[in-house]
Amino acid sequence: MVAKREDIHFSQCPNCGSEERVAEELLKETRLLGIAPDNFKCPIFHVPIMPILQGDPNVPIGIKFSSAFVDIDGCAECGTLYITDVMYGVTELKKVPELYGPGGARVGPQGMPNPSLN
Ligand SMILES: [Zn+2]
Repeated sequence: MVAKREDIHFSQCPNCGSEERVAEELLKETRLLGIAPDNFKCPIFHVPIMPILQGDPNVPIGIKFSSAFVDIDGCAECGTLYITDVMYGVTELKKVPELYGPGGARVGPQGMPNPSLN
């Protein structure tokens, strides 16, 4: 069962309360030049957050699980890095990729050579 979550937006620095952010201020200039659409975003970091399930043969293909992307920007007043947006989603495990060890040998999930694969 995958939980339904609402996206989160933080508009103020948790340290000083300022709403001015380093990357967002740069983006405002590009909007004024007409080269960035209004919905364009410019975080310092755009980070995927999800359980590391790829490569584990015990995890069934097709399973769905919660995941998210997190945007991080820096406060233009005090320099604090903080999360500005959390965008929740659902990821479906499509395929377990084959693992390769040194020399291109196919390996099992623990990184050990697997004779049944070679
Ligand atoms: Zn601040």
